[in-house]
Amino acid sequence: MAATDVTDTVRESLRGELIGPEDAAYDEARTVYNGMIDRRPAAVIRCADVADVIAAVGLARDGGLDLSVRGGAHSVPGFGTNDGGIVCDLSGMRGIRVDPERRTVRAEGGATWGDLDHATHAFGLATTGGIISTTGVGGLTLGGGIGHLARGHGLSCDNLISADVVTADGRLLTASEDQNADLFWALRGGGGNFGVVSSLEFNLHPVGEIYGGPIFYPVDHAGEVMRFYREFIAQAPEELGAFFAFQIAPPLPFIPEERHGETMCLIVTCWSGPVEEGERAIAPLLEVAPVAAEHVGPMPYPALNGAFDALLPPGLQHYWKADFVRELTDDAIAAHVEHGPRVPCMESTMHMYPIDGACHRVASDETAFAYRDARFACVIAGMWPDPGDNERNTAWVRDYWEAIHPHSERGGYVNFMAGDDQDRIRENYGGNYDRLTEVKRRYDPENLFHMNQNIEPVPSA
Ligand SMILES: Cc1cc2nc3c(=O)[nH]c(=O)nc-3n(C[C@H](O)[C@H](O)[C@H](O)COP(=O)(O)OP(=O)(O)OC[C@H]3O[C@@H](n4cnc5c(N)ncnc54)[C@H](O)[C@@H]3O)c2cc1C
Repeated sequence: MAATDVTDTVRESLRGELIGPEDAAYDEARTVYNGMIDRRPAAVIRCADVADVIAAVGLARDGGLDLSVRGGAHSVPGFGTNDGGIVCDLSGMRGIRVDPERRTVRAEGGATWGDLDHATHAFGLATTGGIISTTGVGGLTLGGGIGHLARGHGLSCDNLISADVVTADGRLLTASEDQNADLFWALRGGGGNFGVVSSLEFNLHPVGEIYGGPIFYPVDHAGEVMRFYREFIAQAPEELGAFFAFQIAPPLPFIPEERHGETMCLIVTCWSGPVEEGERAIAPLLEVAPVAAEHVGPMPYPALNGAFDALLPPGLQHYWKADFVRELTDDAIAAHVEHGPRVPCMESTMHMYPIDGACHRVASDETAFAYRDARFACVIAGMWPDPGDNERNTAWVRDYWEAIHPHSERGGYVNFMAGDDQDRIRENYGGNYDRLTEVKRRYDPENLFHMNQNIEPVPSA
């Protein structure tokens, strides 16, 4: 049978849709979040259910075609699409089922954090997720999952109870502590290397209203704010999430108009303990330096997780680099203070996320996510609207990263990496890398799932 005949046969067998170059919806279907990525797959399969996922995997496997798996489409390197291959698009599979009694939630593989937070918030429950509501639950969790609640409740992957996975041979497996435990270990940090995760089950925690929001400082105070933040967060209660950032002040109503466009540093806070204790928990951060603007107060947890969505619409150009940080030294802070204030545009930023507290109570070899003694995950996230500015912005990201990397760990968080960071894959997993290649050999010996920060099914040199 010719390739088109095969495609037609699959098209007819689906509950979802197969969208090819001849279809009107093709340009929209091939588009991912990073506007820099312009690829033309042979077919995008918009899956409606697990049967469609198995069909998509089979089509790619039997046809010897590249296979991309797409959930929220936020992959900066654009792993959610490809040239000439198959895209298994899960964006139609976003169902959420909360069990308030057991305090668990099950999300389909294409759900976003906005979907999950909305459903669990109705019961005053939440789990660690990303800081932007449009990011996919699947991609973020499989790489680890860092967010406001990480210090108190661990990484997203630490809250994973089980996952349903369609493997390269078309089987549907459940991975948990009791079933396919090696696969479950690898899924918690190993990214999309092992199969298509059609649903994920998480533990939830009583988090409804939080007390928090952003505090902006004039950028010439960045050094003192960062040094204070380093000491403060190390001893702060685990209910306090707070990440440090550089950012050009956007035209938001709580920022004085004359300061719009001014480069600033900021700390974004999220107190998830009793709301009435939030003001006291955050007070020292309002005293460390003059505050240029702040928007701190009680709010529903999903409101904080959606607060920056409008600043980051789909279609921006993205180029990111990342490192884990064990000790934020004075020399590292000096490098940040030199490069952070040069942030070239309003969307771009550097975020320094604390990953201590509950994240440290999981051993380095307990899940695939290895850097359990790192205190911070740092990302320099270049994001800008105009492709004409690509050179200037990527240069800022690279120069900044080169300045801080000597003060960082060798590895970084896979979900914050660009496409040109594939050679860091071993370092990103430290002592877990060899075991990951073994699990990969067991579940994906032909490396069908290679459109990712790829763990090859071969022993490392
Ligand atoms: C604006 C923005 C904000 C972000 N904020 C955070 C944050 O707060 N915390 C954080 O930890 N990360 C954050 N990230 C990084 C994010 O975790 C990664 O980009 C992640 O890959 C996004 O997942 P996705 O499903 O949206 O992306 P996609 O592009 O759909 O997927 C990326 C890759 O993940 C794998 N994948 C996704 N879903 C599945 C699935 N169901 N089964 C198997 N494999 C799958 C595939 O390999 C896929 O190619 C952010 C990224 C962006 C662009």
